Amino acid sequence: MAQYTQICSSCGATEIVNYRQHLIKGELYWSGYANCKSCGSTIEFDGQGDLPEELKPAILLEEGEWQLVLDDQNDVVPALRVLRKRRQISLQDAKALLNDLRGTKTTLAWIQDGLRQVNISSTLVRCVSEDKNG
Ligand SMILES: [Zn+2]
Repeated sequence: MAQYTQICSSCGATEIVNYRQHLIKGELYWSGYANCKSCGSTIEFDGQGDLPEELKPAILLEEGEWQLVLDDQNDVVPALRVLRKRRQISLQDAKALLNDLRGTKTTLAWIQDGLRQVNISSTLVRCVSEDKNG
C-alpha cells in the first residue's frame, strides 16, 4: 500500500491517502481511499489501466522500480506487438520502451501476463538504484 497526504476537502485537515495496484484476471486496476481522521469523511477512487503518473512515485518508493527483460531476444517482434496493444503506443515508441522497460512491479506483471499469452517468457528484475543514500 502506497501513501500520500492531501488536504481534506471537507474540513481542511491533512489526510492520508492509501492506494495500490492490482491485477484481476489479467486486467490492470488501481484503487485507493482517503480517510480523514479529523472529520471522518472517506473518499474512494479507482480506475482501470496503468496507474496515473502522479501516483507512481510512492509505489516505486515502496516496492522499488522493476525492469522487464525478455528471456529470448528472438521474441522481440511479437513482444513489440503485445506492448503496443497493452500500452496503446506506436511501434517506434514500443521499440524504445522495450529496450528499457521499467515501472512498478504490478504494471510489468501485467505486460508479462500479455507476453505469456503468446508464449513469450520474460523475467522481472528489480532495478538497483545507484544514488540511494543508505
Ligand atoms: Zn476532514
